[in-house]
Amino acid sequence: MRKKTVRDIDVGGKRVLLRADFNVPLEPGTGHVLDDTRIRATLPTIEYLREQGAKVIASSHLGRPRGRDDSLSLRSVAQRLSEILGAPVETAGCCVGPEVQEMAYSLEPGGLMLLENLRFHPEEEKNDPEYAKALASLAEVFVNDAFGAAHRAHASTAGVAAYLPAVAGLLMEKEIDYLGRALKPERPYAAVIGGAKISTKMAVLESLLERADKLLLGGGMANTFLKAEGFGVGESLVEDDYLEQARRAMERAQEKKLTLLLPSDVIVADRFAEDASAKRVSVKDVPEGWRIMDIGETTVDVFARALEGCRTVVWNGPMGVIEFGPFAHGSHRLAGVIANLKGATTIVGGGATAAVVEQLGIASKFSHVSTGGGASLEFLEGRELPGVAALADADNGYPIP
Ligand code: ADP
Ligand code: MG
Repeated sequence: MRKKTVRDIDVGGKRVLLRADFNVPLEPGTGHVLDDTRIRATLPTIEYLREQGAKVIASSHLGRPRGRDDSLSLRSVAQRLSEILGAPVETAGCCVGPEVQEMAYSLEPGGLMLLENLRFHPEEEKNDPEYAKALASLAEVFVNDAFGAAHRAHASTAGVAAYLPAVAGLLMEKEIDYLGRALKPERPYAAVIGGAKISTKMAVLESLLERADKLLLGGGMANTFLKAEGFGVGESLVEDDYLEQARRAMERAQEKKLTLLLPSDVIVADRFAEDASAKRVSVKDVPEGWRIMDIGETTVDVFARALEGCRTVVWNGPMGVIEFGPFAHGSHRLAGVIANLKGATTIVGGGATAAVVEQLGIASKFSHVSTGGGASLEFLEGRELPGVAALADADNGYPIP
């Protein structure tokens, strides 16, 4: 169902509560924003609102504070935001209450203020109705651009929509649009899944077994599949609790005649370290005491051939331990392969995976790089996200005052 967006309503002169995902990494000690990708991702919405003469009350969570925690203050975000916008961004010391309300009510059209970390109040994550109501009382319209938090039913992502007309921001719209294409894919549809743990990916794998034409598995999570296939994986990261599910997934792939590819060669290391001794071996020959750190050249070649001609490609999860230079090679090569596919909608999801393509400077060569980690996975599973469900449907004549 298409959702109403900020473009479908009149926000001129109105106080708009904007839920953004400014959950950015901060430098310990100084609190400087280390990576402002998420802040920049919401700029189109902020700029649109300001151009329309809205009074913008922006909000976000940051980290996992237990109560008030100055090291997780959104002041750092306000500073970066004002640098980017070249305009001052007023910060409230809190999220709710008379002082914040006064600030909100004195905003000029085009003005922007930022609330303090929404999670300084435990009521946020409890989706407390009173807290949601207090947030809503600041504004006349709710605009949600925080796709990365849309899989959580919190006061600022879902609860607040009970008290205000609720529409999608431009980033939220783009995320729903592109990720939605993977739910109604042009075929052939291939999914490349990697990352550390199979436990965080099993649900999406099961869904992809029913939806995709090809499933290409790499990274740490592929180890459990390799072990389930009977290969020795040495000291590799494996989740033994998932061997049975991996086996069943492979059976299901056979029943469905779906192409399921595992690595055929891998880079192994004698310890988990950047400067470990490393070599490329067949998956049949992982030496005892060694561990799989990356996919090998042959595997990348095989994956590249499988992806050729695909019309929809989703990639979530790195193929190796990207934090260590020598073991980032497989992910880097694969990123290039997907980026250069012709005639395909290419979608990248997951924090670590998005970071890979950002660092390589090739993010713009993908159709869409999702800002959501967990949210993008749940979306790809076909689940309705609470933060999306709470938004007004496009075609129901939502009464916007
Ligand atoms: P994303 O954030 O893109 O969803 P994940 O969080 O699932 O990705 O996984 C990223 C992590 O997976 C990285 O920290 C990387 O080191 C790890 N990883 C990938 N391959 C391996 C491997 N073979 N062994 C151990 N860890 C791995
Ligand atoms: Mg991750």
